[in-house]
Amino acid sequence: MTILVTGGAGFIGSNFVLDWLSCSDEPVVNLDALTYAGNRANLASLDGDARHLFVHGDICDRDRVDRLLAQHRPRAIVHFAAESHVDRSIHGPGEFMRTNVTGTFTLLEAARGYWGTLEGEAKAAFRFHHVSTDEVYGSLKPTDPPFAETNAYEPNSPYSASKAASDHLVRAWHHTYGLPVLTTNCSNNYGPYHFPEKLIPLIIVNALAGKPLPVYGDGQQVRDWLYVKDHCAAIREVLARGRLGETYNIGGWNEKPNIDIVRTVCALLDEMQPDAAGPYERLITYVKDRPGHDRRYAIDARKIERELGWKPAETFDTGIRKTVRWYLDNQPWVQNVLSGSYRDWVNTQYGSA
Ligand code: NAD
Repeated sequence: MTILVTGGAGFIGSNFVLDWLSCSDEPVVNLDALTYAGNRANLASLDGDARHLFVHGDICDRDRVDRLLAQHRPRAIVHFAAESHVDRSIHGPGEFMRTNVTGTFTLLEAARGYWGTLEGEAKAAFRFHHVSTDEVYGSLKPTDPPFAETNAYEPNSPYSASKAASDHLVRAWHHTYGLPVLTTNCSNNYGPYHFPEKLIPLIIVNALAGKPLPVYGDGQQVRDWLYVKDHCAAIREVLARGRLGETYNIGGWNEKPNIDIVRTVCALLDEMQPDAAGPYERLITYVKDRPGHDRRYAIDARKIERELGWKPAETFDTGIRKTVRWYLDNQPWVQNVLSGSYRDWVNTQYGSA
């Protein structure tokens, strides 16, 4: 058997492919357009591994997706591919609508056509797993209970609106056409291979370079944080045993204000990589808040815990320590990203992107 992963060269997708192949010999076909967020170096440890086939392509390209499905006949599609950065969605929402909405629609239609050709056990076993975010639920007040699967959707940014739209499409393809779908809505991930435009890697990279550590507004925006490998394990569980048509919230029970995250990273860097100029906290710089910035997200993960027995293996303390250590130990990866040379493979094939 084979699974088709989309967006498997990005942050969570590449961690998922590595995690999958560390605990299964089931091959992965990895379809990724290699936007700025896709990095083949994340998968360098799989070079020469026949279980991993990287395919450079766009999920909006229906012919391409149809051909891949017909050729590899996967038993599941695990759909990560997306535009994922809220700030970019504010400045240029078009690409978010194209990939997150039209791309998901294209995949669903291709999956529906392919699923219709399957019979018997293969048809019953097929799954379309859609990976989504807690941001679709909007913003919580300090005293509100965390997001449950029954919460209404109230997306506030172009990013979360595009993910909400894709979640609704997935739901409709199940209810209208019977496509065997699963959706997971996860909180903020952190860990290895995270592109340094997102909070935690940005803070690490800027601190090591002696640059300002930008914190939006008052830094009191609260997020739930989950170590990326725990997210990958949760997706494996849902894919294996989740109930068809259901959504599962995934979170780490780790609600933290952004400023606490920044201070924790600084303290770990002080311990692991002291700077002669003084503690890294001196670089914290408050900047104008993001428009429409959601104040608080929190996840009620009791459904996946109760039904599937999943629990995060890492606490925030253990996960963040591993993450900071990973960035210190993988400076060539960081420098490749910062210098832009991670784009070389794409540029040599298609000219500067
Ligand atoms: P990412 O931006 O790091 O990676 C996205 C990947 O998708 C990249 O490899 C990119 O090249 C690829 N891609 C983009 N457009 C494509 C297209 N049209 N066709 C094929 N490939 C394309 O994102 P991430 O942080 O790894 O997030 C992965 C998924 O998880 C997304 O769907 C996101 O909404 C969801 N999610 C992310 C988080 C988080 O904290 N990062 C939390 C919950 C859910």
